Amino acid sequence: MSDEFSMTIDGRAVDAPGTFGVIDPATGEVAEQAPDASREQLDAAMNSARAAYAAWRRDESARREALLAAAELMFARSEEIGRVITLEQGKPLADATMEVVAAGVWLKYFAGLELPVEVIQDDDNARVEVLRRPMGVVAAITPWNFPLLLATWKIAPALLAGNTMVLKPSPFTPLSSLKLGAALRDVLPPGVLNVVTGGDELGAWMTSHDVPRKISFTGSVATGKRVAAAAAPDLKRVTLELGGNDPAILLDDADPAAVADKLFGGAFQNNGQVCSAIKRVYAPDALYDDVVDALAERAKAAKVGPGTQEGVQYGPINNEPQFERVRELVADALAGGARAAAGGAPIDGPGYFFQPTILADVSDGTRIVDEEQFGPALPVVRYSDLDEAIDRANGTHFGLSGSVWSADADRAAEVAGRLECGTAWVNTHLALAPNQPFGGFKWSGLGVENGTWGLQAFTELQVVHRSKL
Ligand code: NAD
Repeated sequence: MSDEFSMTIDGRAVDAPGTFGVIDPATGEVAEQAPDASREQLDAAMNSARAAYAAWRRDESARREALLAAAELMFARSEEIGRVITLEQGKPLADATMEVVAAGVWLKYFAGLELPVEVIQDDDNARVEVLRRPMGVVAAITPWNFPLLLATWKIAPALLAGNTMVLKPSPFTPLSSLKLGAALRDVLPPGVLNVVTGGDELGAWMTSHDVPRKISFTGSVATGKRVAAAAAPDLKRVTLELGGNDPAILLDDADPAAVADKLFGGAFQNNGQVCSAIKRVYAPDALYDDVVDALAERAKAAKVGPGTQEGVQYGPINNEPQFERVRELVADALAGGARAAAGGAPIDGPGYFFQPTILADVSDGTRIVDEEQFGPALPVVRYSDLDEAIDRANGTHFGLSGSVWSADADRAAEVAGRLECGTAWVNTHLALAPNQPFGGFKWSGLGVENGTWGLQAFTELQVVHRSKL
C-alpha cells in the first residue's frame, strides 16, 4: 500500500495488519485497499494525541500558522485530492475539486478566528474573566457524503482551540482522509492529527475509549444515538450532526419557473446525498402541477454518469446499501400510488446509478416523505392550507433545516421562523458558510458546527477570578 493511503499515527505512515476494499461506486468494483486498524493501533493514536496535547495547547500562533499552511495545501492540491474523492465517493471531479477547495476555505477561516475572552467584572473587588480552554483529545467520526470537507469542519476548529485529534472516516470513503493525514504530516507536529481507518466497530472503540474528552460525530440519527449512549458513562462531551428531512415550502405567490433551478439544485446537489438537502417539497394546489413539471423537466435533463466523465452533473449513489435504500423507498411510494414524473428506477449497467426522480401524487405517511431518503429522489407534496403544511413540515423527528419560497421575502421569513429547524432559508437552500452555525433541532443533532459557536464547542468554559481584596 502506498504511503498516501497509510494511516497517520504519531506523525508517521502506519499500515495495519489487515486491509479492507474501497469500492468505486461508478463500477461497483473494489478500487483500492485501506488499512483496517487494530485496537492497539487505535491506542497508539490516542496516546500520541494525548502526548501532543501538552505542547500544542500552549502555542496559539503555531496553531494558526499550521492551519493556514494546511489551507494552502488544500488549494494547491485540490485536483489531486479531488480525484481520490471522485474515486471513492462518486461525485463529479469538478464537485470533488470544489470540496477540497472548500476544505481550504474552512481551514483558513478558522485560522483567523478569535477565541472570545469576556471580562464580566473588573472593579475594586475582583477581575473576573470567562475564557475558553481546550478539552484534550477529540475523537472525530465522519460520514461518506463529503468525506474531506466534513473532516475539516472538525479539524479546523478543534485544532485551533488547542485540542489534538484522532479522525476516523467512513469505511466507504477512507482514502481522502488518509491522504489528508499524509499531506499534513509535514505541517502538523506528530500526534496532533492522527488518521485511522477501519469498519464501524473502530468508531465504537473510539467512543468508548478512555482518552478522548470530546466526540465530534457526523452521520445518521441511529448511529448518533449510539454515540451519545457510548459517551455518557465517561461524560465525554459530544457534538452530533445527524440526518435531516428538510422541507421546502412554496407559498402561493411563488413562481415555479423562477424558483425551479434553485429548488432542484437544493434537492439534488451531491446526488441528494446532503444532510440538509431538500428532501420533500410542499406546493400549494394552484401551483402543484407547474412545480412538478418544472422539477421533472430538470430531472430528465440532468446528466448522470461516472464522476470522471466530462460534463457529468451527478455521479452514482455512494454505496450499495444506500442505493438499495433509495430503490426501496421509491418502489414503496410507487406501489402506494405515487407517480414518477421523472425517473423512478435504477440506471442499467454497473455501478450504483439511479435516475433523478421526481415523485408526484404522494403525501405524508409515505416512507419517502416521512424518512430521510438521502439520494436522487424527491417527493412533491400537495397542500391546501398553509398552517397545515407547516405542521406537516414540522411533523417529523428531524429538524436540520428547511426553506420557504415566495415573491414576498418578508412573508416567507415569517413562515420560515415557524419551522422547527436549525437553519431556515428564504428563497434559497443549502446556503452554508464557515461563519454560520450549523446544527439541528430534535433528532437532527446536538450542538452546532462552524462559526464562533462551532469553535466554542471544542472548548470548556473556564472562569478566572482574580481577587483584588
Ligand atoms: P453512519 O451513521 O452510518 O456512519 C457515520 C460514521 O459513523 C461512519 O464513520 C461509521 O463508520 C461510524 N460508525 C458506525 N457505527 C458506529 C458506532 N457504533 N460508533 C461510532 N461510530 C460508528 O452515517 P453515514 O451513512 O455514513 O452518513 C449518512 C448520514 O449522515 C445521513 O443520515 C446524513 O444526513 C448524515 N449527515 C449529517 C450531516 C450533518 O452535518 N448534520 C452531514 C452529513 C451527513
